[in-house]
Amino acid sequence: MARIAIVTGGTRGIGEAISVALRSQGFTVAANYGGNAEKAKAFTEVTGIPSYCWDVGDHQACIDGCAQVEAEVGPIDVVVNNAGITRDAVLHRMTYDDWNEVMRINLGGCFNMVKATFAGMRERGWGRVVNVGSVNGQSGQYGQVNYAAAKSGIHGFTKALAQEGAKFGVTVNAVAPGYIDTDMVSAVPQPVLDKIIAKIPIGRLGQAEEIARGVAFLCSEQAGFVTGSTLSINGGQHMY
Ligand code: NDP
Repeated sequence: MARIAIVTGGTRGIGEAISVALRSQGFTVAANYGGNAEKAKAFTEVTGIPSYCWDVGDHQACIDGCAQVEAEVGPIDVVVNNAGITRDAVLHRMTYDDWNEVMRINLGGCFNMVKATFAGMRERGWGRVVNVGSVNGQSGQYGQVNYAAAKSGIHGFTKALAQEGAKFGVTVNAVAPGYIDTDMVSAVPQPVLDKIIAKIPIGRLGQAEEIARGVAFLCSEQAGFVTGSTLSINGGQHMY
């Protein structure tokens, strides 16, 4: 029987590409999203992948949402923690709410989702967790102390949980995308983006499918000896 994967923020951008890549690799996929119902409806109509709305920063919503997916689709074998937001500002302008929201969703979402699913993976002796970090969590970025801290936290979270999952057949890895051509990056002003692209040795933004391919590898049977790793996919922007 096909293994079952849940992708958070899986209905647009990088998450949409991950949902589609996992499905073409033979997984049964469920996609979570945060509130853009119009986009989620269009995604489900085109792909046939069911979509489920809940806030990954809400602990109980993750427990309930995953229980609903398990009741309707089956036991979750793979979690891709992709949902994320930015609330950029230099520190002296960043509000406490900007800090908390980014930590709550980007890092808290990873904890909430694995709390809802890890016990089942351990019991069944197989699982895959892939967390989407960021080049800016590795290198830091002006105007992103909240985002860089949350993404950097994801990399520590990944290495700690990998040690706990290993003896149960559960691998835990991260991908660290560079700048990828999605809605999140189209919010960056063009002059700033031009300066960023000038520092990417490959000389362009990445495509969502290029991240999805890396995630799909980490979720595969063949990646069973890979755990606690971060796969950087950034056009050479940062060599970690
Ligand atoms: P987008 O802004 O294009 O999409 C974000 C996705 O996350 C959407 O599906 C959104 O749902 C979902 N989401 C946001 N908040 C929540 C929430 N509280 N609960 C559930 N879902 C939520 O982002 P990208 O595709 O660009 O980014 C995906 C991931 O990759 C993020 O973690 C991001 O930080 C990371 N990343 C992106 C880079 C880039 O250059 N684009 C670079 C490095 C990392 P909805 O559609 O309902 O709003």
